[in-house]
Amino acid sequence: MSKFLNDNLKGLEAYTPGEQPRDKKYIKLNTNESPYPPSPEVVEAVSASEVVDLRLYSDPLCKILKEKLAIRYGVNYENVFVSNGSDESLNFYFMAFCSKEKSVVFPEISYGFYKVFAELYGISYETIPLKADFSIDVSDYIGINKNIVIANPNAPTGLALSLPDIEEIVKSNPENIVLIDEAYVDFGAESAVSLTKKYDNLLVVQTFSKSRSLAGARLGYAIGNAEIIADLEKIKYSTNPYNINRLTLVAGAAAIDSDSYFADNCKRIMETREYTEKELTKLGFYCIPSCSNFIFAKRDTISGEDLYLKLKEKGVLVRHFSTPSICEFNRITIGTQEEMETFIEKVKECLV
Ligand SMILES: *Cc1c(COP(=O)(O)O)cnc(C)c1O
Repeated sequence: MSKFLNDNLKGLEAYTPGEQPRDKKYIKLNTNESPYPPSPEVVEAVSASEVVDLRLYSDPLCKILKEKLAIRYGVNYENVFVSNGSDESLNFYFMAFCSKEKSVVFPEISYGFYKVFAELYGISYETIPLKADFSIDVSDYIGINKNIVIANPNAPTGLALSLPDIEEIVKSNPENIVLIDEAYVDFGAESAVSLTKKYDNLLVVQTFSKSRSLAGARLGYAIGNAEIIADLEKIKYSTNPYNINRLTLVAGAAAIDSDSYFADNCKRIMETREYTEKELTKLGFYCIPSCSNFIFAKRDTISGEDLYLKLKEKGVLVRHFSTPSICEFNRITIGTQEEMETFIEKVKECLV
């Protein structure tokens, strides 16, 4: 840290992304990326002529992509915001709607970035513990008169709330914006997008990073009431009007056009998840029932960290969190069927 850093940032603890080591070839089950490549249409869209056009700025309106998203989700153009990864939509939500006076709450165990944004902007925030079974207690969020952020399905547990539960939370906090982060919704949970038509205080955030195999392209979006979306646009035009690069814009549009390709991949991933869950259970693991592209699992006779380190030595990367309440677990991203068969073999080796 330099002596020049602003005093209010000196204590900030930045977000730690999952490791992306280059020392050898790993089976990478640690950052919830898709094991499958983007669709052929996406590969084709990122053409040589598009690369040549990189000399030109990208469309700040992101018009084509927004129109496609609006049609895909049955909303209007004015209800869609697109961002550089969904992290940027989250960032703008905290910047635009939360403050020292206007506090925000989120579950104690959830996506680590929420806390980072809150601290970055000096926002008052509160975290709410999960129940003993790691599920979210909906009653904790009813009528609390604060901004609320919930990942649904939650990370790293993989548990999802039902749509009626989400609706109760949204309905009971009409003076606050409820943000539902649906990064993993395509792997078996119910989306709250339809509720954005009924409630003006709901913002649903999704991403191309997981179910659409475009983590490296950095593309996310938010769907909500037109006035909220206009506020997010205001932040965008006050920070980075060209927030989506040209290659990502065409890749994203092509990805929407090949929806069924990605739906098939999600189905395959869910099948492989069932296989992995079953095999881990046979080996004596406890797996939290997952609605996402990962499994959160632990076994009594081996510590979470020990298993993580042993697997890494054997060329398999999973995600371990040192937070005390979840340090016995590992978060295991679902890879291809073949990768998961190898993973199970390596786990067996770790247990002898
Ligand atoms: C991966 C993830 C994101 C961020 O995704 P990007 O679109 O790649 O920025 C947001 N929220 C949750 C819960 C995630 O797991």
